Amino acid sequence: LDKPNQILRTDDLRKAFGGLVATDGASIAVEEGTITGMIGPNGAGKSTLFNLISGFYDPDDGRVWVNDTDVTDKKPHETARAGLVRTFQTPRRLEDMTVREAMLVGARPQTGESILPLWLSPSTVTREERANIERAEELLERFEIAHLIDEPSAELSGGQLKLVELARAITTSPDILLLDEPVAGVNPTLANDIKRFVRELNDEGQTFLIIEHDMPFIMDLADPVIVLDQGKVLMEGTPEEVRSDRRVIDAYLGG
Ligand code: ADP
Ligand code: MG
Repeated sequence: LDKPNQILRTDDLRKAFGGLVATDGASIAVEEGTITGMIGPNGAGKSTLFNLISGFYDPDDGRVWVNDTDVTDKKPHETARAGLVRTFQTPRRLEDMTVREAMLVGARPQTGESILPLWLSPSTVTREERANIERAEELLERFEIAHLIDEPSAELSGGQLKLVELARAITTSPDILLLDEPVAGVNPTLANDIKRFVRELNDEGQTFLIIEHDMPFIMDLADPVIVLDQGKVLMEGTPEEVRSDRRVIDAYLGG
């Protein structure tokens, strides 16, 4: 990477779906220790960029670096191993699991494989996985949802699910955590809690890249903020710079 403090960099990423160019030469960098925000009108390509970065999509062109690793054509679990983990706009794969089971899936970074069977034969659980499980339990306490651990995740509110998803992602201690709309559909009280947890984790050194539509939330939390429009970076700046930029206002009005 260009600078040693860059944890993530994309170079000129491109992705088309048929004739629709969703990502059109997006180059971004995230510095260690920041909460970097990503905003942009609906359809700007924010989620697609996350999918390209985290290995859920392969780009047509361009490169992605995490720490010193070129993860451009890597699968999600390989990208996770390089230090980058993401959450989904709509939490997935939780339907028929309890919170505990969902957390155990998180304990083995993004292979999609549950370690629940391994949990029953402790000799096959690695020290790292055991540490991750302990961290998961700690996080549930901290997020004030420890009492839900044996609930079927289907019974949880949207906001509680977001917290489980966040806890799950953090259990593996990623160098950088990507959150896709962490407070979408979440009530204001819980949104404030999520803001506080993100800020606390950042104070402890966790780097974040966060997509969010809720402007007060992201402008309060993030610096810098990257503005995406039509698959490209329109601008990057402090919340103040972004708020007062004519191009940003036009993109939202035109969007
Ligand atoms: P955002 O998250 O900024 O709202 P998206 O990245 O979800 O935007 O979408 C960008 C554009 O790419 C949209 O026009 C969307 O319809 C299209 N798109 C995203 N994913 C796919 C896909 N898997 N297949 C076809 N089109 C897609
Ligand atoms: Mg999106």
